[in-house]
Order: sequence, then C-alpha cells, then structure tokens
Amino acid sequence: TQIMSRGLPKQKPIEGVKQVIVVASGKGGVGKSTTAVNLALALAANDSSKAVGLLDVDVYGPSIPKMMNLKGNPELSQSNLMRPLLNYGIACMSMGFLVEETAPVVWRGLMVMSAIEKLLRQVEWGQLDYLVVDMPPGTGDVQLSVSQNIPISGYHLEEPTKFKKSQAANHNQPSGAVIVSTPQDIALMDARKGAEMFRKVHVPVLGLVQNMSVFQCPKCKHRTHIFGADGARRLARTLDLDVLGDIPLHINIRETSDTGQPIVFSQPESDEAKAYLRIAAEV
Ligand code: ADP
Repeated sequence: TQIMSRGLPKQKPIEGVKQVIVVASGKGGVGKSTTAVNLALALAANDSSKAVGLLDVDVYGPSIPKMMNLKGNPELSQSNLMRPLLNYGIACMSMGFLVEETAPVVWRGLMVMSAIEKLLRQVEWGQLDYLVVDMPPGTGDVQLSVSQNIPISGYHLEEPTKFKKSQAANHNQPSGAVIVSTPQDIALMDARKGAEMFRKVHVPVLGLVQNMSVFQCPKCKHRTHIFGADGARRLARTLDLDVLGDIPLHINIRETSDTGQPIVFSQPESDEAKAYLRIAAEV
C-alpha cells in the first residue's frame, strides 16, 4: 500500500529521453506490439542520426523480447539502473527480461505498479531521441496510471486536445500517444475509450493507426477489406484525430514478428515496411 498511496512521480522526465511515443490499443490482438516494434525501427531507419529505445510495459504479456529476438537479464549500472539490451540498433527494456518466460504473471496491482515504476524510472537509457512505449492493451487502472506518469515535460495542456504540430514547435518533447485499431466496430469502440483516457490525463493523441485494413491475395492480387475498410478514418473524424497511416494485413508482417526479424529491419523495401516508415515520418 505504501507504493500505491505514494503513487508514481508525476510527469518527471525520463532522463536523457527527448520524445516519448506511447503505442496503445483499446483491446488486445489488434497489432499494438507489432506496430510499436516496427515504428521504433522505422524512426531509426528514417533518420540514422536518431537514437531510439523501445520500452515494453505490457506487463501482462510482454512480446518485445520475442519480436526483437532478445533475452537475458539486464546488467545493473553503478548507480543501480538497468541497462537496456540492444538489437537492430534499438535499446530495449521489457518486463520479459525481468521474469522467467514461463512464469505466470498473476501479480496483484501493487506488484504490477512497482514493476512499471522500475521500467519507467530505473533504466539507464543514455541519450535517446525517441522512446517508443508498448502499453498494456485496454483502458483499466494500470493503463490509466501509466499514461498519467508519461513525462510530457513542457507540454501540459489546459484543455484536453489533439496534438497539433504547430503547437509542438515550441516544445522539445512533443510526446504523445498513438492508438492502434483494426477497422472493426468493436475494436474501434475500444479505441475511442483509449483516446478518451489519454485526453483525461492530458496526454496528446498523435493519431490513429489503422491496422489490418486491407488484405491482398498474393496469387490473384485481389484486395479484400476483411475487417472493414474505413472504420478508423470515420472514428478519427468524429474524435477530431489524425489517421497516421494504414498497415495492410500481410503474412510477412506476422512471420517476421514471430521469428524476431521485424519487417522494417528484414524487408525494408517491402510495401508493408514502407507503411510503417510513412507513419514514423508523421510522429
Ligand atoms: P497486440 O499487441 O495488439 O496484442 P500483436 O502486435 O501482438 O497485437 O499482434 C497480434 C498478432 O497479429 C501477432 O501474431 C502479429 O504478428 C499479428 N499481426 C499484427 N499486425 C499484423 C498485420 N498487419 N498483418 C499480419 N499480421 C499482423
């Protein structure tokens, strides 16, 4: 209870990190982690001078270790901070590095919160231009607490609003949230809850990513909108948000994720990788 009542330190910047981009979703299985991983790689690929980190606070089902082909225990620095593990040029930290892969994650809220505090505050990132954060899916207490504690220094809005590039010009840290959704009604309803949660805690929503919007048959090239075509665009209009981009449903995205060779790294010239690269240019 001590940790709970003390709460996490509010809005304190993460040392060395310029911009935090939170990748969230209203529900599980819509491609949030896949987007977070490929977005991190795309930010680095678009500008090789930028240093990028990836923080997996999806404490209930961390998937970054597998997707980034990493495992092991982080070393501790002299000041007792955890050192991120590195692959494909991205500094990574995940709950998955701290617990056994087979260990059941049946912690109570208190343990989850102290784990999240460790991940948010006790990592030695060094200097990062971007830190991409893979959130737990949904809009429960844990998600609310993490989003309240996302450092958006110098960017505290009086009015819950959407992020505007013109406003960001005056700030070093135009941090905010990217919400991933499929075009399906149910996923979109959950995405709306996500957007409302961020607005409540004054985290600017950078925009929506519509995932799995179109499937192109590899044999006949026919395009099918399996989960609907334009759901995210309609939702974006009603919420006054931008759509940052569309990611097609493609077997190469799934296979490269499962084998720990994300598509932006392993097939950078593919149309699917280019979809992520375009989104990275928008945030
Ligand atoms: P979440 O983080 O929202 O739970 P994941 O990123 O783990 O979702 O994705 C769920 C599954 O869907 C994974 O197997 C992933 O490889 C696959 N997937 C995600 N996006 C796509 C896509 N655009 N095309 C094909 N498979 C995808």
